[in-house]
This record gives sequence, C-alpha cells and structure tokens, in this order.
Amino acid sequence: MDIKFLDLKYQYQTIKNEIDTEIGKVFDSGQFSGGQFVKNFEDRFAVYCGTKYAAGVSSGTSALWMALKAIGVEENDEVITVANSFIATAEAISMCGAIPVLVDVKDDTCTIDVKQIKRKITEKTKAIIPVHIYGQISDMKELMHVARQYGLKVVEDAAQAHGATVEGKKAGSFGDAGCFSFYPGKNLGGYGEAGCVVTNDEKIFNRICMIRDHGQKKKYHHTCIGSNERMDGLQGAVLSVKLKYLDDWNKKRKSVAHKYNEILSGIEKIKIPVEKTEEGHVYHIYQIEVENRKKIIELFEKNNIGYGIHYPCPIHLQKAYQFLNLSEGSFPVAEEKALKTISLPVYPEMRMEEVEFVANTIRSKGF
Ligand SMILES: *Cc1c(COP(=O)(O)O)cnc(C)c1O
Repeated sequence: MDIKFLDLKYQYQTIKNEIDTEIGKVFDSGQFSGGQFVKNFEDRFAVYCGTKYAAGVSSGTSALWMALKAIGVEENDEVITVANSFIATAEAISMCGAIPVLVDVKDDTCTIDVKQIKRKITEKTKAIIPVHIYGQISDMKELMHVARQYGLKVVEDAAQAHGATVEGKKAGSFGDAGCFSFYPGKNLGGYGEAGCVVTNDEKIFNRICMIRDHGQKKKYHHTCIGSNERMDGLQGAVLSVKLKYLDDWNKKRKSVAHKYNEILSGIEKIKIPVEKTEEGHVYHIYQIEVENRKKIIELFEKNNIGYGIHYPCPIHLQKAYQFLNLSEGSFPVAEEKALKTISLPVYPEMRMEEVEFVANTIRSKGF
C-alpha cells in the first residue's frame, strides 16, 4: 500500500460537478476579486460559526494580521501566544510591529497553558492568541476570564479547527475575533489561498473590511494605510460548496482518529491524542508521541506511509525569532513535543483498511 499523508485529489472527485458548475459561474460573472461569491461565503460561514460577521481575506496569516490590526495592535505592543504553533501565528504579530510573548502549552492537548499567561502580562500587552492546535479548542473559559480581568483582547487562531465545538459553541466564536485559514490542506480548504476572520463586533468587522481593501471605505479615498488582503471570487465559490460538507468530513476524520486510537491504545511507548472536548475535536492532525521517533519514521518510509511533524522546531528556537533571546529549555513541553511527536495520515476520504494498515504497521513492530 502507498498511503499519502494527505491526498486532495479524492475529495475533488466527490464534488467535481458542483465545484465545476460554481467555478463556471464565477467566470461568467467576472467577479474575480471580492464580489458576490465572497459575500455569499462570508454570510454562510458567519452563520456556521455562530457569529454576526465574517470577513474573507487572502490567507490565514492575513486573517491573523487583519484581526490584530483591527483590534488596535501597534508597534511595540505585546501579544501573548504559544511556543508550538505554525510560524504564521507569530509572524502576524510581527507584521504589526508587535512582539510575540510566548508561553508553553499543556502536555495533554498541546493547547495554551492558561496558568502561565498572567505572569507574562505587562502594561504593553494588548492581546492573547490561543491556537486551537490539531483541531481541538483551547481552554477558552479560563482564558477569557484572564483576558477580561486584564482588559486584553482575544484573537483565536482557529486555522486548524473549522467546526470544532465546546458545548455546542464553535471555534472562532469565543474571543473578540476568530481567524481561519482555507489553505487547501485544512479541514475546510480552498483551491488556492484564502482565509477569514469571524467576529460579533461590528467595529472589528468594519475595520477589517477597510484594511483588507487598501484602507478605503470609498474607492480611492484612503482612511488608513491598509493592504490588499481580499479573498478572490473563485475561493468564495469553492468554499461555499465545500462548507456544506464540512461537518460530514469532520465526522469522517474523527472515525479515522478513533480507529487509530482503538489499535494504538494500550501500547506503552505510544501516547495517543487526548480528547478533552468530547464531540468537539475535528482532528486536523492526528499526532502521537513516541520515545523513538526515528524508528517510526524508518518504518513509515519502508512501508510507503506518509507522515508529518507538527512542528519540528518551536517558535522560540527558530532562527527568525532568535531576537527574542529565549534559549533551549524556555518551554520544556513545546520542546519535548518537537522531538517526540509524529502525525499520521488523516483525511476524510481515507479508507479504513488504510487506517488499519498504518496502525497495525506500528503495532506489529513492537512499539
Ligand atoms: C495554516 C495555519 C496558519 C496560516 O494559514 P495560511 O492560510 O497558510 O496563511 C496559521 N496558524 C495555524 C495554526 C495554521 O495551521
């Protein structure tokens, strides 16, 4: 068997007719940048997330950047986030001229350790970005409590958590703004680059609409310095089609994850993911922790099994962030995860015999 870490071609085959029809409509209408197809998607996605507004932008990185700018993050401000995320979370902070202030994550879920936030708050702190990593929502009740106590804004990085819920409430709807990426490999992915910010705050929404469009409210009259961060019409059309299937796809990811759990549980040297939020985990990534990662990688390569590592180097140890002066040992949990975790293939179209093959390959080698 040849099992890829991710294969996007299968999904397109299942919705090809619908997608092709909708894409044809974009071509016929000429609405390639912004326009009705983006607006349609924004309306649907806001309803899906249970928020009043959704603003489509050009990527997940852009969504984070726009949200931070809209809540007023400026040069030399501080924004608290986690050490183990995709680099984009920190980059968005840097793009505002602000400083990322990192904290470690919890050993079980890899989400932000809320207990560590308070001691990082200074008078320069403006916001907190919890990352709902791998598809599971951070401890938002506790986090919002700390944020409100100190008057801080909260921007959720929900780029890996489309449709994740806690007590029926969707990722992205807990904080002041929620940011999504529609990079093709995400749980809801476009056929190109796109992102979105959801919010209940009209002011934040209006500011994002202005900043994503060169700081203009009226054509060629620029209120502030913005950028071009608009979503394109093709992505709007594709995402409107795909949104209808998101819950079903998430359910399928979950059954893949639970099959892995079933076969891999009880193996002493393997830690399987901890599902804290009952029905809420959407398994963008299924990650296990092992003592000897090299051995599993060799085994996967020999058996043509794709894998990923999320992430091999925490943010504070990246060359780009050396200026933060955070040496090795600063965030022990994030650092340990970087050395010991490996992500197994998960996508909705994966066949159960493929899932069993991957899990049994690990199991049979006495891990
Ligand atoms: C993918 C991702 C982003 C960035 O999204 P892009 O659309 O690739 O810019 C940000 N944060 C996290 C946690 C991500 O996984």
